[in-house]
Amino acid sequence: MPEKIVAAADGLLHVPDEPIIPFIRGDGTGVDIWPATQLVLDAAVARRGKRIAWVEVLAGQKAFDETGSWLPDETVASFSEHVVGIKGPLTTPVGGGIRSLNVALRQLLDLYVCLRPVRWFQGVPSPVKHPEKVDMVIFRENTEDVYAGLEVEEGTEDAAKLIEFCKATYGWDIRPDSGLGLKPVSITGSKRLVRAAIEYAVRKGRTSVTLVHKGNIQKFTEGAFRAWGYELVREEFADVAVGWDDCGGKPGDKILVKDVIADIFLQQVLTRPEDFDVIATTNLNGDYASDALAAQVGGIGIAPGANINYVTGHGIFEATHGTAPKYAGQDKVNPGSVLLSGVMMFEHLGWQDAADDVVRALEATIADRIVTYDFARLTEGATEVKTSEFAAAIVERLGAE
Ligand code: NAP
Repeated sequence: MPEKIVAAADGLLHVPDEPIIPFIRGDGTGVDIWPATQLVLDAAVARRGKRIAWVEVLAGQKAFDETGSWLPDETVASFSEHVVGIKGPLTTPVGGGIRSLNVALRQLLDLYVCLRPVRWFQGVPSPVKHPEKVDMVIFRENTEDVYAGLEVEEGTEDAAKLIEFCKATYGWDIRPDSGLGLKPVSITGSKRLVRAAIEYAVRKGRTSVTLVHKGNIQKFTEGAFRAWGYELVREEFADVAVGWDDCGGKPGDKILVKDVIADIFLQQVLTRPEDFDVIATTNLNGDYASDALAAQVGGIGIAPGANINYVTGHGIFEATHGTAPKYAGQDKVNPGSVLLSGVMMFEHLGWQDAADDVVRALEATIADRIVTYDFARLTEGATEVKTSEFAAAIVERLGAE
C-alpha cells in the first residue's frame, strides 16, 4: 500500500516499501528523459521487492499552461509533505514572474545543500586523459552569497540611496552609475553546510573535506567561511576529523579538513584530481566548480544533482541540465542526468542496492557502446540509440551481476 515517507526529528527517514514520491516531469526534453528514467527506476526497485507510488506535480511551462501559475502552491506543499521528490528540467520564465523556479523551490523548502557527485563512468567519453581519477562530491551552499537575490538596479532611486548610505556610513566611493548586490555569508549558513559535508565524509568513509573559498580577496565572507569551517571541525568533529593546521597535514586515521583558493582549485582538479574528495564551498564557487568538474567526466547529459536539507530530511533530486528545447520530443537526448539523480534519491532513501544496480547497468550499457547522440559523436564504434532505447538497454542489463 502506498505510504508517506516520514522524517524523524534528526532528519532520519522512515521509508516504507511503497513510498509516495512526487515528480515533476519537466519541460522541453522532460517529455523524453522522464519516462525513460521512470522505466529504469521502477525496474530496479521491483527487483528489490519495492515499488514507488509516483505522483505527478506541476511546475514550469506545463504548470503555467494548465493552472496559470509557474509554481503552484500545491507542488511546494506536496514536496514538503512527501519529504523526497524528483524533477526534470524546467523552463525559466523570461520577464516577470518568478526569478527561477529552481531557486524558488530551494528557498521555500530551505534546501541548503546543493549536492553534486562527480565521478567517471567506464566508457564515457571525456576531454581529459585520466577521468577515472575524478571522484569528488561537491557540497555547494544553496541559500546565501550573491545568489540571495539582494540586488538593486543601476539608475534607480534604490541604487542611489544605497550608494549614498555606503558613502555616508563607510566612506566608500561607488560610481553613481553602478548596480549593486549584497553577498551575505553567515555563520549559520556556513557551518550547517560544512557540517553536512563532514557528516557525509564520515558516513561514506571518505578521507578529506576541502573548503574552497576566495578568502584572499573577500575576507569577511569567503575568508570567514573558511575560518568557520575549521572552527566547526574543532567544536564538533574533533574525534573524527582534523584541520590541516592542527595536524600539519598529517591526519592519521581522521578525515583531513583542508582548504584551497577557488581559482587554484580549478587548476588542481585538472592537474591532480586525486587530491580531492569531498568539497565544501560557497554558492557561486560551487556553481562554477560543479560544471567545470562535470565536463571532466563527460559533461552535462550525465551530471546529477540534489538539493537537500539534512536537518529535516527534505530532498529534491534533479537533472542539472536545462530543457534543451531544440531536442524536445525527439526521443534523442541522454536521460543520464535525471536517472543518476534518481540513483542519488535511492541513496538518500537508504536503497543502496537498487542504486548500485542502476549504476552497474548504466555502466554496462555504455561499455557496450550503446549510447545517445551526445556520447555517440565522441565514441568510436558507438551504436547511437534513442532515449527510450537507451533506457530499455539499461533495464535489460539490470539482471546481470
Ligand atoms: P540546456 O537546456 O542545458 O542545453 C544546452 C545544451 O546542453 C544542449 O543544446 C545540448 O548540447 C546539451 N544538453 C542538454 N541536455 C542534454 C541531455 N539530456 N543530453 C545530452 N545533451 C544535453 O541549456 P539552455 O539551452 O541554455 O537552456 C534551455 C532552458 O533550460 C532555459 O529556459 C533555461 O532557463 C532552462 N534551464 C533549466 C535548468 C533546470 O531546470 N535545472 C538548468 C539550466 C537551464 P548540444 O546541442 O551540444 O548537443
